[in-house]
This record gives sequence, C-alpha cells and structure tokens, in this order.
Amino acid sequence: MSAEERQLRLPVDHHVHTPLCGHAEGAPRAYVVAADGLAGIGFSDHLPYLEPAKADPALAMSWDELPVYLDGIQRLKGKSATPVLLGIEADYFPGQETRLEAVLAALPLDYVCGAIHWVGDWPFDDSRHLRRYEGADVTALYRDYYRLVAEMARAGLFDLWAHPDLPKKFGYSPEETVRDAEDEALAAVAAARMVLEVNTSGLRKPVGEIYPSLELLRRARALGIPITFGSDAHAPYEVGHEFERAVAQAKEAGYRTYVTFLRRERITVPLP
Ligand SMILES: [Zn+2]
Ligand SMILES: [Zn+2]
Repeated sequence: MSAEERQLRLPVDHHVHTPLCGHAEGAPRAYVVAADGLAGIGFSDHLPYLEPAKADPALAMSWDELPVYLDGIQRLKGKSATPVLLGIEADYFPGQETRLEAVLAALPLDYVCGAIHWVGDWPFDDSRHLRRYEGADVTALYRDYYRLVAEMARAGLFDLWAHPDLPKKFGYSPEETVRDAEDEALAAVAAARMVLEVNTSGLRKPVGEIYPSLELLRRARALGIPITFGSDAHAPYEVGHEFERAVAQAKEAGYRTYVTFLRRERITVPLP
C-alpha cells in the first residue's frame, strides 16, 4: 500500500487478539479479511506470563504456543492487500524488567504494547473478579494503576501504552481526583517517548467510553505524546470498531497524525 493510499484510509488497528489467548475467537486470517478498508492490521496477542503463578489459559497463550503465534502471523504478512504487523501485548510487572527485556529482544516484533492489567494480586479488568470492586478503595486502585504505568514507562521496554485509563472499564470512578497520579504517568510516558493508544474497546464495556477520555487525550497532546489506534478485537467483527469516532476524538484533542510501526521503528501518518 502506498503512503498516499495509507493516509486516506482509517488508521491501522494495532490491537487485535487471536484464539491463542483463550478468550478470543476467529482465525487470524479472518481478522485480516475484516481489516479490509483500514490502513493495516497489527496482531498484539498476550505474551505468556513470566510468573508461572499468573499463568492462566484463559488470559494468555503458553510459552509452547508463542512460536505458533509468531509463525502464524508472519505467514500472513504479504498475503493480502492489507499490511499485517506483528506485535505483542506484554504486561509490566515490577522486578521482571531484565527477564522481559531478554524475551522481547529475541522476538521479531514490529511493536510492543505495554499493559497494566494487575494491581498487586488483583486482575482488575478481569470480569471473573468483578466482585472485588465491592467495598474496594477505587481511588487507591486508580492511583496504584497510574503509578505502575509510570514505572512501566521508565522500564523503557514498550512502544505504546495500551488502553490508558483501563480502571474505568466497569464504570467505577475514583471518589477523589487522581490527577496527580495521571500526570505522573503521562510525564513518564512522554519522557520515555512512548506512544499512547486510543483504544475503542471501552465502548463495548460498561463504561461505554474510548480509552483514554477526551480530557486525558488533550493532556497527552499538550505533552507531545503521539497516538496510535487499537480496537482490542477479540473477534473478527470487532476489527476497526468505531474507528471513525476514535479519529474524531483524536482530532478534537488536537491530533493531526498517528503512529504505526515497522520492526520497532515509528512511521507517522496523517489522520484521514
Ligand atoms: Zn489489555
Ligand atoms: Zn488486548
């Protein structure tokens, strides 16, 4: 696809799963077909957990499945008019930086999505653990989350920050402002030259909003943080979900371009 053609299309969807993660459906080929009309599709299935205690076939592929994932997506490259990228969604856990760096360095990736899905022993975005919100200190959850995001950015291992304000997923808001914690995360992301993901999956969740909010996106823009787009599709029909709306929100926040990746190098593309 020429650069001119790419910038006329809706953005590359950089956040797409496969059935290997245990909670998605549809063959990778079907996701690529569904991306027809987008500027490209990037797979970013969950990297296996480094801690055996967190291994769960319903959350991430196993280490045995990782080569299956990598080979399967690489085989799709160049087989359709829609460009296919190979990414991964990696959780950040404090103390695992060295091991994670070694794992990632050995993989032929176009980009690495950095994600926080756990605060301590709480996988707070996992609906199987929804009852834990009852009586929980939600303000503390948000603060701990943004503190971990700042640490994730300082680790310097990730290209983008996935689903930036994920703790809002089930509609629980902090009782008091967490602006200082958000600002710490944004400043660390800017300093690490990371990209922020505009992720439409929140529109399909109880919160009914894009991650991040328009307000957070405006502050990211003011700090010069570039953006990318992702649907977090777990089925082919979710590929590129509500991307017109996501582009409109990005423009409202002042963005004129987005970023895509090739072998961990950035390519800046004008918004359509
Ligand atoms: Zn995620
Ligand atoms: Zn995801």
